[in-house]
Amino acid sequence: MHYISTRGTLADQSFSQILLGGLAPDGGLYLPAEYPQVTPAELDTWRTLSYADLAYEILKKFATDIPDADLHALAHKTYTAEVYRNVRSGEDASRITPLRLVEENGGTKLMLQALSNGPTLAFKDMAMQLLGNLFEYALACQHAELNIFGATSGDTGSAAEYAMRGKKGIRVFMLSPHKKMSAFQTAQMFSLQDPNIFNLAVDGVFDDCQDMVKAVSNDLEFKKKHKIGTVNSINWARVVAQVIYYFRGYLSATTSNEQKVSFTVPSGNFGNICAGHIARMMGLPIDKLVVATNENDVLDEFFRTGIYRVRKSAETYHTTSPSMDISKASNFERFVYDLVGRDGARVRALFAKVETQGGFDLSGKPGSDGDEFAKVPQFGFVSGKSTHADRVATIRDLYQKHDLMIDTHTADGVKVAREHLTPGVTMIVLETALPAKFNETIREALGRDAERPAGFENIEDLPQRFEVMSTDIDKMKAFIAAHTGL
Ligand SMILES: *Cc1c(COP(=O)(O)O)cnc(C)c1O
Repeated sequence: MHYISTRGTLADQSFSQILLGGLAPDGGLYLPAEYPQVTPAELDTWRTLSYADLAYEILKKFATDIPDADLHALAHKTYTAEVYRNVRSGEDASRITPLRLVEENGGTKLMLQALSNGPTLAFKDMAMQLLGNLFEYALACQHAELNIFGATSGDTGSAAEYAMRGKKGIRVFMLSPHKKMSAFQTAQMFSLQDPNIFNLAVDGVFDDCQDMVKAVSNDLEFKKKHKIGTVNSINWARVVAQVIYYFRGYLSATTSNEQKVSFTVPSGNFGNICAGHIARMMGLPIDKLVVATNENDVLDEFFRTGIYRVRKSAETYHTTSPSMDISKASNFERFVYDLVGRDGARVRALFAKVETQGGFDLSGKPGSDGDEFAKVPQFGFVSGKSTHADRVATIRDLYQKHDLMIDTHTADGVKVAREHLTPGVTMIVLETALPAKFNETIREALGRDAERPAGFENIEDLPQRFEVMSTDIDKMKAFIAAHTGL
């Protein structure tokens, strides 16, 4: 299996070669040269596999340059009931992503697939935990080290820290805006005592943190000397890890491959649903892929009109489903590449236009950049949008009707999923976080606190380990240099 760039100017790479990287050198995103295919017979034998064994079968198709025995061990080390233990009471942690029937209308099922049972109670653990083990493995093979440097306003940073804690050859330096995260999120990150994790609380806002990351990324000499890398959502291995749970969800919801299933995905950077697209391209019988956005509706606009228009900061709203508050969708380019018939030159031109003019138009109308929007239905994509009022109403509705408490992001998904039900086709909504992470909105909707999984009851009281920093780049570089020993 070889990997290419969506912008078409790259020699073929292997899985291991792109594992530790982000963007391709030409500014594009990595994708396999062709999608591996899954036969119906294979699907039948996969239906009864454990999550770890299924993960192994799928990883094997993408990571062809890692020995099978090593991949098998990595999959079994990652997907355990101990790591994904934060299930709802009555659910079986060994299933890793258990499915639950929410409601059934005239024989059409609406189900929830729990992806948030990992250590940080959000779906990013599904991929990040594998990445931690893959990175440690790859670095050991190369006798190399890696210093992960990033900025977070919550979810991604904590998922990265929990995935990399205690890993040999890896340190994490994570910037966050001082006193701007929720008490729960702060406690999750800052209570980690592992010596390879450095929480840097910056006196400023999230944008200041991101600017600091950019400043370091642009200093190529420093980056190289201190072996700086990132783990953002465009990392290819993260996308592959997410492909696995679409297979698991489909296979658990069906008894035969004649049956189709649709997925609704609370979306921001298009990483999660991009994995669904890849599963569908591999031959998984997915009917529709429903993109659910919040008020930040860049993606909903595209899937309704064919116009992709990134938002300015002033047009990017802070919502109560904050992990979907995006101005542009960093993984979207992967889908556009397939949509325009895998034409790297077209993708390069379209995304150059995103830089210069803030977007592109594939609606086929006079003056547009192309007419490929007409092909979107072939890929199964549809979309919808949900607002704060919708989230609150949906959280209340599921709690009152089904005694089921869901978080704000998942509520966006359920709201949009209900608008896209097809008679006889099971709809699976991906649960991307547990309600404990977004207690304020749960209180607003239900007048009570969110349930907290065991072990999280008093997390805010644990001792915290962090450094407060100014936005001074040189001081930050000095801190990194002092702690990498390089
Ligand atoms: C990251 C995140 C999302 C958005 O996922 P994308 O891959 O960026 O589309 C949705 N919900 C939660 C809780 C998240 O943490």
